[in-house]
Amino acid sequence: MDGIANGSTPNGLIQAGAFRIIAGPCTVESYEQLSTSAKLVKQAGFEYLRGGAFKPRTSPYSFQGLGEEGLKILSQVGREQGLKVVTEVLDPYDIELVMEHAEVLQIGTRNMANFALLKRVGAAIAGTDHGVILKRGFAATVEEWLLAAEYITSAGGENVVLCERGIRTFETSTRFTLDLSAVQVARRLSDLPVVVDPSHAAGRRDLVLPLSRAAVAVDADGLLIESHHEPQEALCDGEQALPVDGLLSLREALEPFAAAM
Ligand code: PEP
Ligand code: MN
Repeated sequence: MDGIANGSTPNGLIQAGAFRIIAGPCTVESYEQLSTSAKLVKQAGFEYLRGGAFKPRTSPYSFQGLGEEGLKILSQVGREQGLKVVTEVLDPYDIELVMEHAEVLQIGTRNMANFALLKRVGAAIAGTDHGVILKRGFAATVEEWLLAAEYITSAGGENVVLCERGIRTFETSTRFTLDLSAVQVARRLSDLPVVVDPSHAAGRRDLVLPLSRAAVAVDADGLLIESHHEPQEALCDGEQALPVDGLLSLREALEPFAAAM
């Protein structure tokens, strides 16, 4: 690892060997909200901005995201701040639209086994500079997760990044259980970079920093972190979002570890 990367990468992708942090709010709420959040991500020295425009909510009555309007806000703010954009694609029909606005497509935990989506995404990104972050299904084995990634690569998609985001166990003190062994297991079985999402795993912001340190210790290639300039006002996942000072402390805390490896 060469320290926390904050320069531009040749092709806009997360690569093994450089520790990268993706940060931003769970969901795009407005131009003002995303722009403020993005400035903080930039200030913290990270190069990828995340934010959901299509949200896979457990309840159909919860806020579902701004859709295309959210994508437009994402690409505008990404351009303004010089940040690459990561956002989730939920529906095969939206793949091209999402690709117009984001450098990296996220496939969420609930869609890891949506093989039609995986194949369509793989074919759509083939020969492009776009990347895909494939989150582990919260009830999937590492083998199932790696086979899901092969649906994308065998359809022609090259730039796939795996993301461990916690699995469901009997434990209720955290939202999911972060499976750190999976990072090492996946590394041994595959050449794909592996990033860790401690925010969705823990579901609480006080554990994000310690779990991030643990992710560095197990040799993860990066982190996906939820942050918000006013977490108590967030429309989605506010309890796990790092506020401004949290994001800066995260960078400060990880820099020496990431640089030393
Ligand atoms: C997210 O990243 O906001 C998200 C919904 O993640 P997951 O699919 O891991 O729940
Ligand atoms: Mn979220």
